[in-house]
Amino acid sequence: MNKYVYTFGGGSAEGAASDKNLLGGKGANLAEMCSLGIPVPAGFTVSTECCTAYYADGCKLPPELTDQVLAALKKTETIMGMTYGDAVNPLLLSCRSGARSSMPGMMDTVLNVGLSTVTIPGIIAKTKNPRFVWDSYRRLIMMYADVVMEKAEGLEPALGKGIRKILDEKLDEVKHAKGCKSDTDLGADDLKTLAEAFKELVRQHLGKPFPDDPMAQMWGGIAAVFKSWNGKKAVSYRRIEGIPDEWGTAVNVQAMVFGNMGDSSATGVAFTRDPATGDNKFYGEWLVNAQGEDVVAGIRTPSPINDDTKNEQNKHLVSMQHAMPETYKELDAIRTTLEKRFTDMLDIEFTIQEGKLWMLQCRVGKRTGTAALNMAIDMLDEGLITEKTAVMRVEPKQLDELLYPIIDPKTEKDANLIVKGLPAGPGAACGVLVFTAEDAVASFRAGRKCILLREETNPEDVEGMRAAAGILTARGGMTSHAALVARGWGKCCIVGAGGLHVDAKTKTARITGSDLVLKEGDVVTLNGTRGHVYFGSLPMMDATENPRFQRFMTMADTFRTMGVRTNADTPQDARVARSFGAEGIGLVRTEHMFYGEGSDEPLFYLRKMILSNTAAERKAALSELYPFVKATLKGTLEAMEGLPVTIRLLDPPLHEFVPQGAEKQAELARALGIAPEEIKKRGEDLHETNPMMGHRGVRLGITYPEVSEMQIRAIFEGAAELILAGKKCIPEIMVPVTCDVSEIVVTRKIVDQVHAEILKQFGIAELEYKYGTMIEIPRAALLSDQMAKSCEFFSFGTNDLTQLTFGFSRDDIGGFMNEYLDQKLLAADPFQTIDRDGVGQLIRMSVEKGRATRPGLKIGICGEQGGDPASVDFCYEIGLTYVSCSPFRVPIARLAAAQAAIKAGSKKLHIRPKGAKS
Ligand code: ADP
Ligand code: MG
Ligand code: MG
Repeated sequence: MNKYVYTFGGGSAEGAASDKNLLGGKGANLAEMCSLGIPVPAGFTVSTECCTAYYADGCKLPPELTDQVLAALKKTETIMGMTYGDAVNPLLLSCRSGARSSMPGMMDTVLNVGLSTVTIPGIIAKTKNPRFVWDSYRRLIMMYADVVMEKAEGLEPALGKGIRKILDEKLDEVKHAKGCKSDTDLGADDLKTLAEAFKELVRQHLGKPFPDDPMAQMWGGIAAVFKSWNGKKAVSYRRIEGIPDEWGTAVNVQAMVFGNMGDSSATGVAFTRDPATGDNKFYGEWLVNAQGEDVVAGIRTPSPINDDTKNEQNKHLVSMQHAMPETYKELDAIRTTLEKRFTDMLDIEFTIQEGKLWMLQCRVGKRTGTAALNMAIDMLDEGLITEKTAVMRVEPKQLDELLYPIIDPKTEKDANLIVKGLPAGPGAACGVLVFTAEDAVASFRAGRKCILLREETNPEDVEGMRAAAGILTARGGMTSHAALVARGWGKCCIVGAGGLHVDAKTKTARITGSDLVLKEGDVVTLNGTRGHVYFGSLPMMDATENPRFQRFMTMADTFRTMGVRTNADTPQDARVARSFGAEGIGLVRTEHMFYGEGSDEPLFYLRKMILSNTAAERKAALSELYPFVKATLKGTLEAMEGLPVTIRLLDPPLHEFVPQGAEKQAELARALGIAPEEIKKRGEDLHETNPMMGHRGVRLGITYPEVSEMQIRAIFEGAAELILAGKKCIPEIMVPVTCDVSEIVVTRKIVDQVHAEILKQFGIAELEYKYGTMIEIPRAALLSDQMAKSCEFFSFGTNDLTQLTFGFSRDDIGGFMNEYLDQKLLAADPFQTIDRDGVGQLIRMSVEKGRATRPGLKIGICGEQGGDPASVDFCYEIGLTYVSCSPFRVPIARLAAAQAAIKAGSKKLHIRPKGAKS
């Protein structure tokens, strides 16, 4: 016989935390808490297997379930000392959904199950609190009608015609008639009349009476939770999150406890550590005389559970630590027990009924990137987790927010804290105070960093908010305008600093409890991760100097086997990437020197070269261009001293550089000694219908070998000069846009020839380098065994390879990509995450073929996807030597690569080719 029901309560349980697949996350952890001796209201879990059986049998509960549930109910009654449906001492139940992975708000829970004409008088007699009982009853009718009688039956009333809405309107009507502002102003008799009215409305609108039989209520609740697995909301949530339909949900049937039985009752939610900072402090909120969802519903401002949790908005409210010190101690001890057992930060739900503490839920808590890092390091130091686990505890993407500057922790301890607010935007910022958005913009233009201080921000302030280094507001919460905007930008921001009294007219701000008055131009420093405002300027430190960040990354590197390089076009980028731990450059785009700052002169000579008509003209222009190319490439090689630098020969279609303005054309005409009309004509001749597939990449060097030669010479000469200066450099010459090995052979001849010339010219015996190609055309991938004959390395240009494999123009996907993603035709944008099925297949094949020809072939990737964790996973899996990504993504790629190696662990997926080092 199938076992579908697992009991818990009274210090033991049939399930455990490891049974998530069978019991759902909530059920498994309730069982675990019971076994740990933590007080949990007794109950039982109907398994996910039962849910699957229910659906397999056309939405029928399996027959053997009846006896199992009744036996489990009996056990629950015994432990709780109450009887379900009893007239004198009735037990009440909750029916709670619980899938394997949490699906917040997607499925439903029914509370107070078991209230009926038989049990109500008994509970009133027992509690001597008729108001509480009638209040619970009207809540049951509403939840039950909504969840069990309407949603689970698949009824889809028109918007605003749902039973919950209808009953809510009735409630409002009664409140209005009685002249009450809040639900709590209604008395027992009012609520009793209301419940009767509810029942009548349910009958009218749903065509069935609300069941008065407790057993019918319980079974209705169980089936409804199963049905909610296929509710509209839940189904679309699963599509988005990729949760399989077969998993099913469990149902937890559990004895009710009440936080709304008066002033010695309460309910709350907490995190075992601060989820924003990671500080090892108990963090939570509670409400006296309240039930369940009241804490998160936002109807009343919740109170802090302890001093550590106090902030500007709730510090006047009484904490649990003070109001119920004994119960608080008990809760704090449970916190320790849970962390030891789960070795992670948990979020918990609890209820206190007449002084007695009950735990209702625990699960691993969500956290910010900063908190994830700090907790991983703390828990490692506390001996709670191993290094391997610590490395797995931070999601690579979360590192993003850790790359912002912070205040030097040593100085922050003793800094002059003037006021606290809510931590709304990460990192730290320092600047002069300004009081209006206009002043912020002016300050930015003047090159002065500023902090924009406002009472509150509104959409008109956005320009100023952008211009400011940090944002500070006196009012507003974590979802205020300022907080939302700042978080979106990743900008340092503190909101709701209630101690500040801003006077926009005089551009000053008073501070509660201090003589200090802030004026325009005063320098302040914000810690947006903590919500602290300091007077004066505090020393900042880059993420790369943050000792905890560094320690974490160094630890991650000990597990990593795949290399991480960077895409960098300038010496400056190269230096930044190196400080983030790049182990070389995977892509230098030579053409970058013709864009942006300082590009005027080289661009001029490049244009001269492009618009030359004869080889002689072209050679003359090339020799003028040469010193610029050499200086840039030499600078980059120097910045990466000792590490490999892959330099790609000129890639883009030439016509991209043809001058369009008349003035520039005239200037060039003068330099070339020809008429402006002639320039115009030559430019028009270069026009291409489909430039991305036109005269570009290696094709330029095929038609104009002197263009390739100039670049190759610049690389070798720069390297030779560095070698003579005693510096080690390792250039790697990469040919773009190849589709056949013949192109590589032709170009290789130039490389060999220039290499020999340079050795002679500089009188050096050796100049180490490598020669290779991009694989970015499907044909090149297909013929990789051929390509590898003349190449020492491959680098996948996954931007072009994706474009050409899909036939999606990467510059024009804006028109349709979102439709593909919305309609789930594609799981992810293939320009952000490597498409494993198609493009990935080409890459995999290319790796195999390339290494079949040349076993030690170094293979990397230099497309955008190189910094995307899922793509890094893939690159690891197929045995790439390294990934290369933009400088700020280097730490993300390092961590993703380390995690890929840890995950593969026993599987040993990664076989590193002999002789291939990154
Ligand atoms: P969710 O999965 O949406 O968090 P829950 O099953 O946790 O739903 O139920 C929501 C709330 O209902 C809980 O946070 C708790 O406050 C309340 N609740 C559930 N079961 C009980 C119970 N047995 N006794 C008291 N309150 C309960
Ligand atoms: Mg919950
Ligand atoms: Mg390309």
